Amino acid sequence: LWNAALGDLQLQMAPSTFDTWMKGTQLLDVSDDGTFVIGAPTIYAVEWLQNRLAPLIAQTLERHVGKPVSLTFTLLKQSDTPPPESTEDFFTMPAPQPSVHPNGSKSPEQEEVLGDPLQPRYTFSTFIVGASNRLAHAAALAVAERPAQAYNPLFIYGGVGLGKTHLLHAIGHETRKKGLRTVYITSERFTNELIADIRTQNTEAFRQRYRNVDVLLIDDIQFIAGKESTQEEFFHTFNTLHAANKQIVLSSDRPPRAIVLLEERLRSRFEGGLVCDIAPPDLETRIAILQAKAETQPIRVPSQVIQLIAQRVQSNIRELEGALTRVVAYAQFGHQPLTVELTERVLRDILDRPTNIDLDMVIQETARHFGVSVEDLKGKSRRKEIALARQVAMYLAREETDAALAAIGAALGGRDHSTVLYGHEKIAKAIEADDQLRREVLTIRERLYNKS
Ligand code: ADP
Ligand code: MG
Repeated sequence: LWNAALGDLQLQMAPSTFDTWMKGTQLLDVSDDGTFVIGAPTIYAVEWLQNRLAPLIAQTLERHVGKPVSLTFTLLKQSDTPPPESTEDFFTMPAPQPSVHPNGSKSPEQEEVLGDPLQPRYTFSTFIVGASNRLAHAAALAVAERPAQAYNPLFIYGGVGLGKTHLLHAIGHETRKKGLRTVYITSERFTNELIADIRTQNTEAFRQRYRNVDVLLIDDIQFIAGKESTQEEFFHTFNTLHAANKQIVLSSDRPPRAIVLLEERLRSRFEGGLVCDIAPPDLETRIAILQAKAETQPIRVPSQVIQLIAQRVQSNIRELEGALTRVVAYAQFGHQPLTVELTERVLRDILDRPTNIDLDMVIQETARHFGVSVEDLKGKSRRKEIALARQVAMYLAREETDAALAAIGAALGGRDHSTVLYGHEKIAKAIEADDQLRREVLTIRERLYNKS
């Protein structure tokens, strides 16, 4: 039924709308009273469906079931979601591509089945270099240029979403261009294949497969921890490749030393080449990454929007890119201009707002930032800088706390809710155009977040 409805909906929407918001949905339940529970893979999709597409979906379903329906949208749990449609990749990943061998049809049979495909986008040319990844990038480049001569193995570690997989694929693209047999594989898949071979008593085949490659790229090697037979087999594979002067590149979310349940002999092999880390990017690098990403977007992204995202999303490049993609999607499909205000709104949904910011903190930090007293903010003065600080406090209180308008007004010297609403709107508009004011508001918020 849901598939039929989806087919029908596809005909009624722009393809991009359908792909972005409908594709990952699932019908989870239909209750006796005609309530359809529809799961979507991200909270943004849930909101979008609720706010924009619900009437169309309801109409369509009603046609199919022949009676009135009501809709509930909910976030899909990881276990509801079919494996390839991970929520993270919902917006950012193109469909999986088959691996392409540079020699086209002449490629040996085994290369088609070995390992995982390389993402075409993950090349050195799309990798932005900054202080946080300079060493890892230089090492990867050296390995790609002179496999098995520069560093062997190369071990790259760092937190999630910082570019490890990107660098491994970039190396793979280059070595394939050189005609080297290159296998990229996640250690999870490596382990699964080995277990399957052990089950069918075919470990010899496994050995031959991986021992015939020129460049072996193993991603997320930390998953090998605690898996003894995999470690055993990998140890031998590693030694064979290394002795034959073949390049090995490993990535992990932590340094070899910090992988518990890793055999000592493997650990010392991992540390035998070059170990380097990727750190979270600094502000400048985040801006550069967003600028590059912005150029591939279907609509123009104002530089204030890039700055705002770069300031707010600090830890992880995947989230940084995801934030931009979502903001653009909201603007594009909602037919709204891509503004600072829209970005603020979307980011607020993406980033978990600290829950313990209260009115007093907002008032104190705002007063401090503008160099006025808390009494001034609560008082009657209409002096320009005090009035501005007061309105900024109203804006931040509304944005960053759960306080009702009336409560905000009361905390600011007994003003009524329409005054608060007006103050909020005035600042929301002003920061669109006024760079200086926007920076001030961001600075205060930064301090509130750091304090909470
Ligand atoms: P990891 O494997 O470390 O978890 P990924 O390599 O999957 O991270 O990177 C996450 C996303 O961020 C990818 O889309 C990748 O292209 C992008 N990315 C990471 N580092 C950079 C960079 N320095 N320049 C451009 N894009 C980057
Ligand atoms: Mg990765």
